[in-house]
Amino acid sequence: MVPVSELRQYHFCPRVVYYHILGVEEAPKDYMSAGKERQEDLWFKERRRKTLAGLRKLRVDERRYGISLSSLRLCLIGTLDLAVRIGGEWLVVEVKSGPKPRDGRIPIGHRVQAAAYSMLLEEEMNSVARRFFLLYENGLIEIQMTDELRDHVIWTTRRILRIYRGWIPPVRISRRCSSCGYSSYCMI
Ligand code: SF4
Repeated sequence: MVPVSELRQYHFCPRVVYYHILGVEEAPKDYMSAGKERQEDLWFKERRRKTLAGLRKLRVDERRYGISLSSLRLCLIGTLDLAVRIGGEWLVVEVKSGPKPRDGRIPIGHRVQAAAYSMLLEEEMNSVARRFFLLYENGLIEIQMTDELRDHVIWTTRRILRIYRGWIPPVRISRRCSSCGYSSYCMI
C-alpha cells in the first residue's frame, strides 16, 4: 500500500520516495517549522467556524477530522486532514502549510494528493467526488475532480510501486534541490 502523502512527494521528486523507503531522515529546513506553525493557526481558526474558510456559501453540516482511509483496489492508505459534509455531499479539505501560488497554478502534487484522498473517501462514504478543496493560509481553492486527475492518481501510484519493487530514481538537479532536505545525500 502506498501512503497518499507519497504521491505529493513523488511529484516533488521521485528520489525523495526512494529515500523514504531507505528510512533516510530529511534534514530540517527553517521553512518547515514556520510552515507547521502557520498550518496549526489555520487549523485553530477552521475548527471554530460553521462555514468552510469563512465563506457563507459553504455552510458545513458536518466535519470529520483525521479519518483513516485505505483501499486494496487503489493500493492507497492515508489519514485525511478534514472531510466536510455540505448538504448530501462529502468533500475532502486538504490543509496546506503555505500560501496559494501567486500565479494561480496549483502544483500537480497538491492536486493529485487531494484527488487520491477524494477517491478513498468515495469508497468510505459510498459517494461520488465531484470536487475537493485545498485550504491555503491565504484562501481556499475549489478544484473539480476530472477523469484526467483520477488517471493521474493511478499513474503516480504505479510509479511509486515501481520504486518499492526496486527501481532507483536518478538524481535530477533542479530548482527544487535548494529547498530539499535530502540535498546532502544527492551530493549537491
Ligand atoms: S536534492 Fe534534488 S534530486 Fe535530490 S531528492 Fe532533493 S529534489 Fe531530488
